[in-house]
Amino acid sequence: GAVDLACDVLVLGGGPGGYSAAFRAADLGLKVVLVERYPSLGGVCLNVGCIPSKALLHVAAVIDEARHLAGAGVTFGAPQIDLAGLRAHKDGVIGKLTAGLAAMAKMRKVTVLRGYGVFVGPHHVAVEETTGAGQDKTGRQQVVAFKRCIVAAGSQAVRLPFLPQDERVVDSTGALQLSRVPERMLIIGGGIIGLEMGTVYSTLGARLEVVEMLDGLMPGADRDLVKVWQRLNAPRFDAIRLRTRTVAAEATADGIRVQFEAADGTRSEGLYDLVLQAVGRAPNGRKIGADAAGLPVDERGYLRVDRQMRTAVPHIFAIGDIVGQPMLAHKAVHEGHVAAEVIAGELLGDEQLARTAFDARVVPSVAYTDPEIAWVGLTEDQAKAQGIAVDKGLFPWTASGRAIANRRDEGFTKLLFDKATHRIVGGGIVGVHAGDMIGEVALAIEMGADAVDIGRTIHPHPTLGETIGLAAEAAHGACTDLP
Ligand code: FAD
Repeated sequence: GAVDLACDVLVLGGGPGGYSAAFRAADLGLKVVLVERYPSLGGVCLNVGCIPSKALLHVAAVIDEARHLAGAGVTFGAPQIDLAGLRAHKDGVIGKLTAGLAAMAKMRKVTVLRGYGVFVGPHHVAVEETTGAGQDKTGRQQVVAFKRCIVAAGSQAVRLPFLPQDERVVDSTGALQLSRVPERMLIIGGGIIGLEMGTVYSTLGARLEVVEMLDGLMPGADRDLVKVWQRLNAPRFDAIRLRTRTVAAEATADGIRVQFEAADGTRSEGLYDLVLQAVGRAPNGRKIGADAAGLPVDERGYLRVDRQMRTAVPHIFAIGDIVGQPMLAHKAVHEGHVAAEVIAGELLGDEQLARTAFDARVVPSVAYTDPEIAWVGLTEDQAKAQGIAVDKGLFPWTASGRAIANRRDEGFTKLLFDKATHRIVGGGIVGVHAGDMIGEVALAIEMGADAVDIGRTIHPHPTLGETIGLAAEAAHGACTDLP
């Protein structure tokens, strides 16, 4: 068939992975086409993920902090919450960032095609034009020929099939619309996304319940950190159901009636004004016409890639949520840069660039709850499971001047060092601003630092970040005694 447009690199999907790859490829001198079905770039992260959730979590954190001041001689009145104003704040944040992305694409001469793209051959994608705020099709189609392709089509929320179609049953996207604040809210799935949204709604006045299939909230995080979070957040919850499945639900005039079954077979039920399903995200691999390009997709919808982000089809690369866990924006961005550099290296004959590979040792995770939980590298359980003996450095924030001054000394900082090599292999922080601090621990792991390196690095006093140096000193007692 006829080709409407030809390029060096076609990037399918305009999320953090896709736009980062497109921008890097353009900066390296390639002709780039970026295909996105929605009107703005930024993908899940900017439009319905990381950014809007943090815009709301910031407001929740300020409200909660104001309440903490009651014991410091300052009381405020009850917050007056104007949901329309809050929504406008969140939408304004998204608008600023997506407008910035559009400008950056233009500046780099990246051609942004608005439409739904599917492979129609190994070197061709057909883009069906979309319009309006969603994915309405105009009927116009363009075929784009490419030398290389980067698939960055992301993921979408998993839907439990038995939940009723009802405006009181939402996924994270629905929850971020913040249509109203319910009295009784059920969160299905006790992971980061569910508990972040729960934090927002609870601070705005909702009573929470959460149901989780596994035996703890925030799966993946160090249990010691989660314990602190759970103790402090207990007042938000009427029930925390662990090792429990949601098995049925029914929409009634009084609310959504939900049935649960615990691992021991015990049944229970509850009635809610809002049910948030946050049971995970599924990759979009089955919806891109992969067969036409000979591109294998696994049974769950993931594309498999090597360390250069190359799929089984050598000129097609894939990055971000569609290639697997952890489904995090910063991982997608990093992978996008790798794919773009490998491609530029190959097309422009730069051997060094062509050898680029994804070789990050660790990807940090953060729950932006109150307090925050942040971790990177191995947890204690994982180290044990892998047979790695560790030295532990713990620093409780009850000994941090800054945390006490902030009236937020409930946190702690924990670092793990390999007993054999003395190098840091993991770290976790629970406490306010933990997410802003974990980057230092990630850097230490990437640099192969040991406890002395970290403990002797002069941290500014009084800061929460100081607790990282102090935890390292705790792991290496000798450190402070040396001349
Ligand atoms: P996506 O962001 O999913 O982007 C894919 C894009 O491709 C989308 O814009 C989609 O419309 C488009 N697309 C898909 N198929 C096609 C097609 N066939 N044709 C055209 N366009 C197509 N991560 C963090 O790191 N930190 C956080 O704080 C955080 N918070 C989150 C909060 C929520 C509520 C959610 C849901 C997610 C959060 N995440 C967070 C995860 C983060 O959003 C994702 O990891 C990230 O967006 C993945 O980027 P991506 O580029 O792989 O895909």
